Parts: sequence; structure tokens; C-alpha cells
Amino acid sequence: SSDEEGGEEYLFKIVIIGDSAVGKSNLLSRYARNEFNLHSKATIGVEFQTQSMEIDGKEVKAQIWDTAGQERFRAVTSAYYRGAVGALIVYDISRRTTFDSVGRWLDELKTHSDTTVAMMLVGNKCDLENIRDVSVEEAKCLAEAEGLFFMETSALDSTNVKKAFEIVIREIYNNVS
Ligand code: GDP
Ligand code: MG
Repeated sequence: SSDEEGGEEYLFKIVIIGDSAVGKSNLLSRYARNEFNLHSKATIGVEFQTQSMEIDGKEVKAQIWDTAGQERFRAVTSAYYRGAVGALIVYDISRRTTFDSVGRWLDELKTHSDTTVAMMLVGNKCDLENIRDVSVEEAKCLAEAEGLFFMETSALDSTNVKKAFEIVIREIYNNVS
């Protein structure tokens, strides 16, 4: 934070990680622009989007980074993680393999981060209850063991999307203020 005109400014970098096609880009577009894309192309994506919220009467800006498809080639670079103080680790509740990858993503995140990172485990596509492949209980269990917040979301119907980002942003704010 820095003083400016008597107030304080906060800018937090948050990264979204997880296997390809779990819905990372759509979580970001839902949160930042209230948009959802049924046929989103992994290669089309902006580096990051900035979204503001108010905490304790202060403007807090979150700069949220999207991999733009790099994860397909296991080539998410250290630059992507640099300076991140928050992370959403996303899996798809209808595809177990994406949940099995969470540990690897956590390791990568920890390898690249040098400060406290507020972390949220996100089980996306909770609208696909009929083809659920990962139970809420086991995800909660993993989150507890790893010290992560946990939430199921749907970028499609908007369930918990705003909430997931805002919990992370508040936790970062608590960590630094
Ligand atoms: P990314 O590769 O992790 O960035 O995933 P995308 O955001 O590109 O989404 C991959 C596919 O999953 C796309 O076809 C999306 O329309 C779809 N998708 C994303 N989020 C949801 C969701 O919450 N529910 C459902 N049913 N589909 C989703
Ligand atoms: Mg993407």
C-alpha cells in the first residue's frame, strides 16, 4: 500500500491455475465482465483483468491473471507467478483427473512464491451435478489438509464466482493490513 491524497491504495496480483478446460478463463470473464463463453478458445485470452472492490472504505484493486492456455503445454512460466499474493486453484467437479492435478499445481505455486499467498481451491462447473466425479467432502478434506479456502462455483450460472474472488481478496487484505 502507498499513501496517495491521504488515502491508501492496494493492488493485489492473483493468479488462476489448474488444468486445461476447467473453466479458468470463464471464471475470470464472469467475475470481471459478467460474461460466459460456451466455446472459449484456450489461445484467446488477455494477460490479466483488473477488478476493484471496497474494503474498510478503501479501494482495493485485484489484478487477476489468466494463463491464456499456457497450461496445456505445462509451460506456465515463473513470470506468471511472480508477485502473486493470491491464487485460485481450479478443478472441474465432473472430471476427476483435474482434481488429481491439484497437488501438482500447489507444488508449482509454492515453488514460485516467496510470500504468503491466499489460496482458494475452486471446484468449478457445479452446475454439472448429474455427472459429478469429485465429492464435496473429499475436496473439503484436501482443502483443510493444505490450508486452502474451498468453494464450488459455476462460471456458467454464476454460483459463488464473485464470492470466491472476494474471499481471496479479503484474505490478502487481512494479510497485508
Ligand atoms: P480454461 O481452459 O480453464 O480457461 O477453461 P475455459 O474457461 O476455456 O472453459 C473450458 C470449457 O468449459 C468451455 O467450453 C466453457 O464453456 C466450459 N465451462 C467453463 N466454466 C463452466 C461451468 O461453470 N459450467 C459448465 N457447464 N461449463 C463451463
Ligand atoms: Mg483459459
